[in-house]
Amino acid sequence: MLTLPIIFIFFVQSLSVLIEIDAIYYSLNKEICYQSEIQDNKIVIIDSELTFEEACGNQKISEAVRNNLTLVDVEYYSLDNSLHRGQILIHKTLAKDIIEIFEVIKKEKFPIGKALPVSIYDWSDSASMLDNNTSALNFRYVKGTKILSSHAEGRAIDVNPLLNPQIKKGKVYPIGAEYNPKIPGTITKESFLVKEFKKRGWSWGGDWQRSKDYQHFEKRNK
Ligand SMILES: [Zn+2]
Repeated sequence: MLTLPIIFIFFVQSLSVLIEIDAIYYSLNKEICYQSEIQDNKIVIIDSELTFEEACGNQKISEAVRNNLTLVDVEYYSLDNSLHRGQILIHKTLAKDIIEIFEVIKKEKFPIGKALPVSIYDWSDSASMLDNNTSALNFRYVKGTKILSSHAEGRAIDVNPLLNPQIKKGKVYPIGAEYNPKIPGTITKESFLVKEFKKRGWSWGGDWQRSKDYQHFEKRNK
């Protein structure tokens, strides 16, 4: 008579497997539900689906900066080789560049860990970098200075920061990261990504002399 409970347990287990196959993820610590949807017969895993308000969060972004921002949906293959959709909060004038560049990223299957607005990390740049999160807007200063970063206006983007760390005076940020050009998702001066950004007038932190910021691309207002 033990067969019935065993069948029931199997039934419950198969149900939970089915739910996983349907790619519905619950992030317990962030209380955000990640879902997937079918698009052109392909499953797209939704990494981020915030409203503009949620992406701006409760950070005191000035009205002037906020009025110049837009939230762009981007698709990419992540390190799991699956197609994902995330979001980039960026300066309005740069949205077209980002959309075009992400189309190439997707076509080339250059892996992007994830792309979530930094409000998800309570605006912690370190937490976002350690999570290998690609992001643009963050109201913050250049590390170790009182100079506003170009991220503060949404005029810069950091791509796969854990794979493409910043190296300054011998220190590596995020702490513990390693720059190894052999790992997929790593950016070098030969990368198509650098060419795509540069031909649209962006500069790359990997070209800097005093420090190297391999994750960083920016296009300042001229
Ligand atoms: Zn940056």
